[in-house]
Amino acid sequence: MPSIAFITLGCKLNFAETSTLARRFMEAGFERTHPARRADVYVVNTCSVTEQADKKCRQAIRRLTYLNPAALVVVTGCYAQLNPDEVAQIEGVDLVIGADRKGNLLEYVNNLRTKGKADSVPCDVRTVESFFPAFSSGDRTRSFLKVQDGCDYRCSYCTIPLARGKSRNSPVSELLREAEIIAASGVREIVLTGVNIGDFGKTSGESLFDLLRALDRVQGIERIRISSIEPNLLTDDMIDWIARSRAVMPHFHIPLQSGCNRILAAMRRRYRRELFAERTQKIKRLLPQAFIGVDVIVGFPGERGDDFRETCDFLQTLAPASLHIFPYSERPGTPAAAMTASVPKPERAARARTLLELSDLLNRQFYTANIGQPTRVLWESACKDGLMFGFSDNYLKIETPYRKELAGRLQSVRITGFNPERRTASIEMNNEEWS
Ligand code: SF4
Repeated sequence: MPSIAFITLGCKLNFAETSTLARRFMEAGFERTHPARRADVYVVNTCSVTEQADKKCRQAIRRLTYLNPAALVVVTGCYAQLNPDEVAQIEGVDLVIGADRKGNLLEYVNNLRTKGKADSVPCDVRTVESFFPAFSSGDRTRSFLKVQDGCDYRCSYCTIPLARGKSRNSPVSELLREAEIIAASGVREIVLTGVNIGDFGKTSGESLFDLLRALDRVQGIERIRISSIEPNLLTDDMIDWIARSRAVMPHFHIPLQSGCNRILAAMRRRYRRELFAERTQKIKRLLPQAFIGVDVIVGFPGERGDDFRETCDFLQTLAPASLHIFPYSERPGTPAAAMTASVPKPERAARARTLLELSDLLNRQFYTANIGQPTRVLWESACKDGLMFGFSDNYLKIETPYRKELAGRLQSVRITGFNPERRTASIEMNNEEWS
């Protein structure tokens, strides 16, 4: 039985795809092993969101070839699609697979019997129509369900549309079937993943709202989270409905990128800060305890000190629960990479540190504001230092002394405190109410 190990870099979408590939290989008789062990085949699903991501991919490939120089090494994902020749030249790589062939990886590996010069199977991403359906498995708590791929937006800093192609999706009926399979496996929570999830429905003539309403009725799925949604695609109707829905959680991850309208325009984002403020105010009005996570890019070309301060002030007014901060990274082939007025890297790092401090403060305030509130927690199975953890409906990380029988259970609790070192909430349990 040949052994195979997978490495996933980057986002939840990659994670869902790798998990699906792994199931296919195991069904075909491969034995899955840990990537720190010797395997006959290694598959690396890469990311290319920043320069750093490319570097990590190259390091991962080199580590694997060092571990077993005789192993077949197959590389796919965004970095492989964007730079197939560069990847093919890394020592030890045998096969580089383009975006539209990922779903056929098993066939390619079965035909690849001996090591030799790296073969590359690229694709013209502009013409890709196919959709590789995927969901993650193996975690008893949650599954990442891929609902959409690609993006028709052209944000000036982003290579994802060049790596993943145009916006496309599985139809709602197919995703319902997958959600039912996930529910039947005992998993209670699904996280909808994609590149631009709010744009769902380009292929099937449906909308994300249609999908949410359909998934909300799936028995056994107690929680649905949307991994990320563009602010201009999060409609008022959708927020109204989420506030009343059975299973869609009060948890929003919304990319802002800048709080300065001039920079938003240079980024070719499709909204102004006023729209972003409107959306978050509406969420807070209808769902006062909702978790709102916000992405921000610092040091975009042309971002002056006063633009950055505008972003800081705006974020303080919005008061989200957490910030995801990305120092701007030049991506070859994007309009932003050709822009002048580049912000020096040390200044980008300094701005990132300022926002990290702000995020820390906002996060503490969010946890503290939840003390005394009732919620539910879905317990995870891992035990660390005698503790187990889970997330509340509104995405607070919660801890309690480890009890094996709680793993995978959804339990009603009340938040009683905040542990700043571990960044977790403590709780009191209602032992009667669990399922
Ligand atoms: S919306 Fe913009 S940032 Fe997001 S994937 Fe599309 S082009 Fe990239």
